[in-house]
Amino acid sequence: MPDTISEQDFERSALEFLEASAEPRVESRQSWGEGSDQVSILPERTLEEEITELTEARAWAQTRFDAGFSWLTGPVEYGGGGLSRDFQRLYNELEGRFATPPMSAYGIGLGMVAPTILAHATDEVKQRYLKPLWRGDIVACQLFSEPGAGSDLASLQTKAVRDGEQWIVTGQKVWTSGAHLSEIGEIMCRTNPDAPKHKGLTGFVVDMHAPGVEIRPLRQMTGGASFNEVFFTEVRIPDSHRLGDVNEGWTVALTTLMNERAAIGGGMASGGGGNMGTQRLIELVRHFGKADDPLVRQQLADIIINGRVASFTNLRAMAKIAQGQLPGPEMSIGKLTLTANMRRTSELVASVIGPRLVADSGEWGTYAWSKFVLGLPGMRIAGGTDEVLHNIIGERVLGLPKEPAPNK
Ligand SMILES: Cc1cc2nc3c(=O)[nH]c(=O)nc-3n(C[C@H](O)[C@H](O)[C@H](O)COP(=O)(O)OP(=O)(O)OC[C@H]3O[C@@H](n4cnc5c(N)ncnc54)[C@H](O)[C@@H]3O)c2cc1C
Repeated sequence: MPDTISEQDFERSALEFLEASAEPRVESRQSWGEGSDQVSILPERTLEEEITELTEARAWAQTRFDAGFSWLTGPVEYGGGGLSRDFQRLYNELEGRFATPPMSAYGIGLGMVAPTILAHATDEVKQRYLKPLWRGDIVACQLFSEPGAGSDLASLQTKAVRDGEQWIVTGQKVWTSGAHLSEIGEIMCRTNPDAPKHKGLTGFVVDMHAPGVEIRPLRQMTGGASFNEVFFTEVRIPDSHRLGDVNEGWTVALTTLMNERAAIGGGMASGGGGNMGTQRLIELVRHFGKADDPLVRQQLADIIINGRVASFTNLRAMAKIAQGQLPGPEMSIGKLTLTANMRRTSELVASVIGPRLVADSGEWGTYAWSKFVLGLPGMRIAGGTDEVLHNIIGERVLGLPKEPAPNK
């Protein structure tokens, strides 16, 4: 892609590519009883279904990359397009008009791990992984949380001990989304147990197929198993795969976490929530004869208004990022407003559907909502819990006194 291309020429060649490689998206105004009634928040697929979806996503990612329409903003030397964010936005808008496979398997790798590699990895690691990540050849996961370290991530205990030009990693991670589909992971380890907890961490890129890595699925209460426990027994990582300086992993982790909130918020900037659009809720309310109920109407209006507010907050944050500024507390606000709106949605649906939410009557579009309601707690935890985000907003946005440190 020449770096002097005009937006008009870019649009023309992008449309040519999309028309030749994908079918136009058919807009269907969903009516009650039509199509799939799935509204789950977390993926609820079998391993076979996950692999099929990944294979389709991979084929599209490779086609798009080879045509020069992936990672438009990335540096050319690592496989990016070297263009401004305006081109990426334009392309996303154009691609949205076509039916392309869901790319959720790549969400963590491209939304969080790849930006961290670009910011902190050695040139060898950037050369080795950035292009395959963006081309969809490989999937990446985030190995941060442990049984004793979630919100308080800096308490993590998985240790990495230096052995010449390698590090030996031993410990356990948990809640690792997509580890079972991943080729690489971004892992945070303790490299100095004697330093204060934020000062003794180091980040690495680890090969998920290396000897000593064991992945065990965790089944969520909605039935699927989209995350895992991952055990590391004396796993060797080359020093070249270190992210940032030794014992400076906290800065690396912050890069990933900022991008995580941006990815969650950005994905929702369209005002959605799970797989559910507002139209589905309107149909539900109409179907159950509640469209004239003033309380239900008020609840519905609240959801629509708050969805728009969450969407605008996220767009504001995205605009800041587009100007080269770091994503700030808007990300925390965006994520919090989103999950608050999903809770409102759960409450509205529960009050309209009643017992059909918990007993499967076979009726289309009723029991299916149980997966949304049961998936909501996960959304309120992942990427920073509601309580922790409240603390961040209280302290960093409103300037309230800091939370007292717990007694050690
Ligand atoms: C769907 C999903 C996907 C995930 N994917 C990944 C992944 O891919 N990789 C990964 O590393 N992790 C992942 N996680 C883990 C996630 O990051 C942690 O669950 C999260 O950080 C919370 O940590 P915890 O579960 O240990 O809870 P804890 O931190 O133990 O929190 C327990 C409770 O205490 C509250 N609490 C904690 N500290 C405070 C405080 N200071 N003030 C007030 N209240 C507080 C919390 O809000 C929560 O209600 C995922 C989680 C979910 C739900």
